[in-house]
Amino acid sequence: MQYFATIEPQKRMAPHLHTALRGSIPHEVIRQVTAATYHQVWWPHHDQLVYTSGQLPVWQPTVKRFVDPDTRQPLTSWAEALEQLTEPAHVVTFGPQVHSKGILGGTDDAGRHLGYLTKYLVKSVAEIVEAGTEAKQRHADRLHAELSVTPCSPRCAVWLLYGIQPLSVTSQTVPGYCKGRAHRRATLGLPGRRVLVSRKWSLKTLADHKADRRAFVTQALAAVGITKPAQDTSRLIWRKLAPGDPNVPPRAHLLMQAIAERITWRAEYDRAMLVANAPPLSTASVSAIRQAA
Ligand SMILES: [Zn+2]
Repeated sequence: MQYFATIEPQKRMAPHLHTALRGSIPHEVIRQVTAATYHQVWWPHHDQLVYTSGQLPVWQPTVKRFVDPDTRQPLTSWAEALEQLTEPAHVVTFGPQVHSKGILGGTDDAGRHLGYLTKYLVKSVAEIVEAGTEAKQRHADRLHAELSVTPCSPRCAVWLLYGIQPLSVTSQTVPGYCKGRAHRRATLGLPGRRVLVSRKWSLKTLADHKADRRAFVTQALAAVGITKPAQDTSRLIWRKLAPGDPNVPPRAHLLMQAIAERITWRAEYDRAMLVANAPPLSTASVSAIRQAA
């Protein structure tokens, strides 16, 4: 199954998934699969704050655990908290709005939908939100306030506010303070990748796909007698750029270069398809063309 998907915040900032799937799947199957898909997070409940600033758990070096500031009793450990679970803290499902549409490759419709897929990728989550109305920004502020007291992982220091000692705490851990990206105003709970591709299923890397496409075009052109000289890259040395390298071109230049490269590839592909599908010129018509010339 090949797909390309992007995630963006909706108006109410719930994550919204756009995905392009290759193949023909009945709409009803897509509806049934999304309705039956869910993800459970088996974490302790975290509805009621137990400790707030001024009344925080303290690190007890002798037992290497956080303890209650008054009773000096150790907090519930992560393992103990998991043992007491009877239901998951979070269950994630798809919302009721599932819309699927069949699109043929190479049509105007396909181009337009590719535009929708990539429209928001040049902007960060915060930029999309900041561009909204004042009400939308207030909504984002409330979401951010909630996210700052919502634990992001089993190692999150926010758990200490709920009387639970997270995994791998040290004397340096500050209750309620976590650097995790999920808590930040800039990500608003969408800290991970916003572009998802089907590498896992095709067992191919992006470089493999690129090589496949190049081989296809070269082959199609070769079939009609057009050969493209292979580029000699043996004298080039490839190395990864370090952050802040002054030789890196500006992002806008890189984007424009990538777009120009795509346009060239597209033209080469179209040319290959055109030549491959055109009826071969007969000897008579070739000589007629020569005479006309
Ligand atoms: Zn966290």
